[in-house]
Amino acid sequence: MDDLTPAPASQTAVETPADGQRREEWQRRLTAVQAPTRALLAAVVDAGGPELADHFYGGMLADPRAARFLDPDQVRERLKPTLRRWLAQLLSAAPEDADTLQAVQEHVGHVHARIGIPVDLVSRGARMVKDRLHRGIRTMAADHTLALDAIVAADALIDTALEAMTRAYTRSREAARDLDGSFRLFSLIQNVGTERERQRALLLAWENTLLYALTADDPGPAQPLLISRSEFGLWFLHKGLASFGDTAETREVNQLAERIDTALRERLPAATDTAARRALLDEVRGWADAIRSLVGIMFEGIGDLESGRDALTRLLNRRFLPTILRREVALQANTGRQFAVLMLDLDHFKSINDRHGHEAGDRALQHVAALLVENTRGSDYLFRYGGEEFVIVLGSVSRAEAVAIAEGLRAAIASSPLVLADATRLPLSASIGVAIQDDHPDYERVLARADAAMYQAKRGGRDRVVVAGHSMPDAPDQLALRR
Ligand code: GH3
Ligand code: MG
Ligand code: MG
Repeated sequence: MDDLTPAPASQTAVETPADGQRREEWQRRLTAVQAPTRALLAAVVDAGGPELADHFYGGMLADPRAARFLDPDQVRERLKPTLRRWLAQLLSAAPEDADTLQAVQEHVGHVHARIGIPVDLVSRGARMVKDRLHRGIRTMAADHTLALDAIVAADALIDTALEAMTRAYTRSREAARDLDGSFRLFSLIQNVGTERERQRALLLAWENTLLYALTADDPGPAQPLLISRSEFGLWFLHKGLASFGDTAETREVNQLAERIDTALRERLPAATDTAARRALLDEVRGWADAIRSLVGIMFEGIGDLESGRDALTRLLNRRFLPTILRREVALQANTGRQFAVLMLDLDHFKSINDRHGHEAGDRALQHVAALLVENTRGSDYLFRYGGEEFVIVLGSVSRAEAVAIAEGLRAAIASSPLVLADATRLPLSASIGVAIQDDHPDYERVLARADAAMYQAKRGGRDRVVVAGHSMPDAPDQLALRR
């Protein structure tokens, strides 16, 4: 599952000048460490390893926010040994390890971002580790000069690592926020085309009311005619602004609306003759025209949000999967509601394409997507994950319920062959992996477990459901630390 195994960034991305600078920085720092200093640091880490890890996590666990991310068993069994490896690797590295070090810190930063560990907690843990290291160095160093060299080297390396981690962390969080934002927009305005037409009609309706009032003998008070009181105005305030956010267009619409309402409030009472009212009307309609075209631009800008859905199956696009899983993890942490992930892969799909053509394959995918919709709950999320792979996120389920839904899907697919135009009945089946979220805050882990279970279902003969155990291939965050 290459999508889930985070490759070190330096291996996947094109190298930028900034990457080159970072490598030089690591190399400079690593070259500055003399052999005796490196040996001393290695000895200090070796002698004080468990205690150093105790201090790091002691510092973090003392913060009440940490309870959400770290449970004591996980810290003892998994994280402390990982931290010791991290420290040993960092403090005994040679200049040629620069790229590896950089990649490891970036990976750790991304994992922290995914889990949502506050970055200050990590800094705090690092500070505790430094204190301890300094103490160990003072006890074990043969002389003052060596002690000083070792302290300077340890601090420089840990700081460089933290910097790289934080940079990756920030980038990751920003990307996630953008995605969350576009999902909000996407879900708020489910059907961009319909919404655009509706708002256009509402704006027109307000203009007609205004026209009617201003050409009548007695226009009445200004208040009911204000655009901010119209249905369009209310939509813009409550949904439009929330959906489109603070942009040049939304700001301008706001200003125009205020200008309209001020003009109506101030000039309508004084506009006693037809000519004055006509002039007011013309001016207001000019501003309303501007609003109309701005709203058009705003909707145009989100037209591509339709890509939130997969074009063939109309299920959700996988790019929103992290957003949904992050929410479910948070919901579980806050409410204790468990969620489950199903990984579903159609069996022998290639042979359908081979025997009946790609179009029949496409129809089979649409057919299966419809079956998934029919046989899940309204609160479940259905994603097209890849070619003929689907991911289903089931919120608020027990293990038994998740298995029942998975089994229901399997049975529905197996008993609903696709009927082709020539009446050929095309039998279909799927292999489904089920993973119930454990307490681990990293959503990629539950996906990886579902995937592993799905492959087990394939190996077991296909057309079946396999539930993932708690042991899983490998926690993704451990991969980068293994040499
Ligand atoms: P297995 O039971 O092991 O899953 O066998 P399989 O043939 O389903 O698995 P494999 O992954 O080898 O093949 C998946 C095939 O799905 C390959 C590709 O041709 C087909 N496929 C992927 N996306 C689409 C699509 O959008 N339309 C059609 N018609 N076929 C697709
Ligand atoms: Mg497949
Ligand atoms: Mg398949």
